[in-house]
Amino acid sequence: MHFHKLRIRISLLWLPYLLMLPYLPVARLIGWIFIMLTIHEMAHMLCAILFHYPIERINIYPFGLAATITHIGHGSLVKEILIISAGPLMHVLFPSLFQFCVAKGILSPSFASYLHTINASILLFNLLPIYPLDGGRLMQTFFHCFLRFRTAEYATLICSLISITAVFYFHLLQGVSAVIVLIFLILQIFLSWRSLPLTQLQFFHYRRLHPVAYDPILNESFDLYRGRRNIIKYGRGWIDEKDWLTQRFGSEKNSRRP
Ligand SMILES: [Zn+2]
Repeated sequence: MHFHKLRIRISLLWLPYLLMLPYLPVARLIGWIFIMLTIHEMAHMLCAILFHYPIERINIYPFGLAATITHIGHGSLVKEILIISAGPLMHVLFPSLFQFCVAKGILSPSFASYLHTINASILLFNLLPIYPLDGGRLMQTFFHCFLRFRTAEYATLICSLISITAVFYFHLLQGVSAVIVLIFLILQIFLSWRSLPLTQLQFFHYRRLHPVAYDPILNESFDLYRGRRNIIKYGRGWIDEKDWLTQRFGSEKNSRRP
């Protein structure tokens, strides 16, 4: 397991939150949302640990955890579909948890039905095809099944912007907080767009250190298909992606395995 470099940060948002807590009429609801989103994120993390993905950082916010999983978006498509799906899958199990809490007298039936609605809303929002929501990440992985790395990334970001436009146009989300979240997502997409050349280099670097044995594909471009072993056009012949990456970035001995 890869915990040696794990950094856990407690967000400064806790300070105003704890000060406001006694006066918040919805403190109990926020507490439950914290539990739901924490279990959601833990499911991603456990699945990532199972597949030997290093977890770099965990931020603890008043509304739940947020984990940074290193190399997500670079590795096996199947494993990453499982890691991404693990979080949303938890929301399918929560109704049974609420029922259990009602049976044990921990929750009133009316509050449980309210939580039921909140849980369904979180799940639906999370599955919107907008990067970096889980729905957007699943869409990204889908594009990587048949597009070259950079094309798949651009397709993800363009489709995310189209989805956000549709959400605004059809008023799928309403209220000030929804607008703030959508603006935050637009910002994330913009930043991802700008850092795409770096993201592609990180993918190449990862791929050089983690060679794959997938089905081969002939590739005449200077980009790689993530889900295939690329045989790249080189001069008058073809070379394996491992040799091509070594030509571009030097031998493995000269670089540290992350
Ligand atoms: Zn998630």
